[in-house]
Amino acid sequence: MSFEAERERMVQEQLQARGIAQARVLAAFRKVPRQLFVPADYQREAYADHPIPIDQGQTISQPFIVALMVSSLRLHGHERVLEIGTGSGYQTAILAELALEVYSIERIPELCRAAKQRLASLGYLNVHAAPANGSLGWPEAAPYDAIIVSAAAPDVPQPLLEQLAPQGRMVLPVGSQHSQMLVEVERRNGAIVQRPVAECVFVPLVGQFGWSGDTSS
Ligand code: SAH
Repeated sequence: MSFEAERERMVQEQLQARGIAQARVLAAFRKVPRQLFVPADYQREAYADHPIPIDQGQTISQPFIVALMVSSLRLHGHERVLEIGTGSGYQTAILAELALEVYSIERIPELCRAAKQRLASLGYLNVHAAPANGSLGWPEAAPYDAIIVSAAAPDVPQPLLEQLAPQGRMVLPVGSQHSQMLVEVERRNGAIVQRPVAECVFVPLVGQFGWSGDTSS
């Protein structure tokens, strides 16, 4: 089966069948070539229904989880988005299809460099990526209409709340290092409203406002 056919099947069987319905989200998943974001040895599994290991002991998330998270942000196309945990850059590419500008932070410089190269070679000009501790956010470019965190935090990091625009939305996994709840956070007229979305398992967010110690290897 061609990658294109596999991609279509992923969209129908893993996303639409499980309730992902936003047309713009489905179009983005139909477009981004996921096989270019996984290591060469895993290309045949690129569209499989599970996460895949990438370099440095990290993972590229399962397509459904990426779809669930980006759907929570309800992007229309005019937003400035902050992403923590660039990893392979796959979700970054999906966000770049759905929003105006994407600011993406990855703590492991090698992963950041590789993702940047991949995204540039695919022609994404609206992505700004930098190697740093993302639990502190990216204050220079704040506020953000949407914030998405792809690594698990013990709690919602305060700096990220501070960098969320009025009426902004954030989605992140909160819990222990081994299992978490995906939580949607909304800033509504000054109040912070939280809603649980689904149980999930992510690699830990490392650093201040995350988990201490180097768990990357
Ligand atoms: N969405 C990514 C998933 C990457 S896994 C993808 O589709 O490929 C989560 C990533 O978060 C890892 O690459 C890890 O290195 C990174 N990470 C963990 N703690 C971080 C922190 N404090 N700041 C920035 N990135 C972090």
